Amino acid sequence: MTQKQKKTRLRAKQDQRALHLDTVKSLQKLQKSAVKLYVLSSQLTRLIDAIPDSVLLKDREGRKLITNKLTQRLFKLHDLDWYGKTDIAPTSAPQEMRINHELYQMALESDLHFALARRELKLYYQILVDSDRQMLGAEALLRWEHPRYGLITPEHFIPIAEQSGLILPIGAWALKSACEQLKLWQSDPLRKELSLSINISPCQFSRPEFVGQLRQILKKTGIDALQLKLELTESLMLHDIANTIENMERLKLLGIQFSMDNFGTGYSSLSHLKQLPIDVLKIDQFLMRDMANDSCDAMIVKTIIDMTQKLGIKLVAGGVETEQQFACLKQLGCSTYQGYLFGKPMPVDQFEQLLDNRLGSTAPRDQVR
Ligand code: C2E
Ligand code: MG
Repeated sequence: MTQKQKKTRLRAKQDQRALHLDTVKSLQKLQKSAVKLYVLSSQLTRLIDAIPDSVLLKDREGRKLITNKLTQRLFKLHDLDWYGKTDIAPTSAPQEMRINHELYQMALESDLHFALARRELKLYYQILVDSDRQMLGAEALLRWEHPRYGLITPEHFIPIAEQSGLILPIGAWALKSACEQLKLWQSDPLRKELSLSINISPCQFSRPEFVGQLRQILKKTGIDALQLKLELTESLMLHDIANTIENMERLKLLGIQFSMDNFGTGYSSLSHLKQLPIDVLKIDQFLMRDMANDSCDAMIVKTIIDMTQKLGIKLVAGGVETEQQFACLKQLGCSTYQGYLFGKPMPVDQFEQLLDNRLGSTAPRDQVR
C-alpha cells in the first residue's frame, strides 16, 4: 500500500471514530431528554386527571388553554426544549432504529417496576405430551400484558429484569403463582396427575434465601412437590457447581425435581450430567429444526436419548413443530414432547379448556413424574 493510500485510510478511520463519538453523545443527550419527557408526561397526565371533568369538558377553548399552559410550564420546569427545535435529530435510519430501540428498552424498564403491582404479569401454560399425544403436564411461561405494547414475551423483559434485580420479586411471584395453580390441579381428580415446570433464573437460584423461600411456598400451598419441576439452565449449573449441587440436594429432599433446560446449546458437558442430581433433560429446540432432514442432527439427538436412558434421566424434546419431527423423535426413542405441534403457551383458562377437550377421551399418565 502506498503512503498516500495509508494516509487516506487513516483519515477515513479517524472520521469514522469522530462520527461514532458524535452518535454516542447525541444518543446520551436524547436518552436524558427521554427520561425527563417520560417523567413530564406522567406528571402532565396526573395534573390533567386532577382537573374535574366539569371544568375540562365545559368549553373547548378553556380546555386547550389549561393543557397548553400546563405543558409549557412543565417543559420549562424540566429545562426541556421542544423536539422540533433540538439539534440532535437522528441522522440515519439505523441510528433512528437504534434510538427507538433504546427508548423502548428504557420505557420497558421503567414500566417493569410497576408491572407486578399492576397485575400485568401472567403465567401462560404450554402442554407436554407423551408418544401417544397424551398430556403429562405443562411448563409455566411468563408473559407481560403491557397496556401500551400488548403481549410481551420473556426474551424482551427477562434480561431487563435480571439486570435491574427485578427478577427476584418477579421470579418469586411466578414460582408462588405456579405452585398455587398446581395446588388447584392437584385438588381436581381429573387434573391431579399433571406435573408443572417453572423456569428459575440463575440469579434467583443462587440467592441464599431461595431454598427457604420455596420451602415456605410448599408449606403454604400444601402441594405434592413430586409434581413440581424447576428448570435450570446448563450455564447456571456449571457456574458454581458445588453450591448448585448443594442447593439442589436440599430441595430434592423436599421432593422437588430438576430439569436441565436448553440442553445442547451450552457446554453440554456429559461428565457434568453424571454429577448433577437432575431428573429431566430438555433438548433445545434448535436441535429439532433440521433433525428430520439432517442425519447428523438426528445422530446427536439419538446419542442424547441413549445417554439419558443409561443415566436414568427422563428426556423432553422441546420445540416440536411438525409431524415429521415428532415421528423422527418417536423412532429415536424419545418419550416426552413439547412444542407448537401440541399447543402453544396459553392463558390458564384456555389451557384448562384444552385439557378438558383432551380429557374427554383419556386421562393423564405419569411418565414424566
Ligand atoms: P424456555 O424455558 O426454553 O421455554 C421454551 C420457549 O420455547 C418458550 O418461549 C416457548 O414459547 C417456546 N416454544 C415452545 N414450543 C415451541 C415451538 O414449537 N417452536 C418455537 N419456535 N418455540 C417454541 P418463551 O415463552 O418466549 O420463553 C422464552 C424463555 O424465557 C424461556 O425459554 C425461559 O428461559 C424464559 N422464561 C419464561 N418464563 C420464565 C420465568 O417464569 N422465569 C424465568 N427466569 N425465565 C422464564
Ligand atoms: Mg424452560
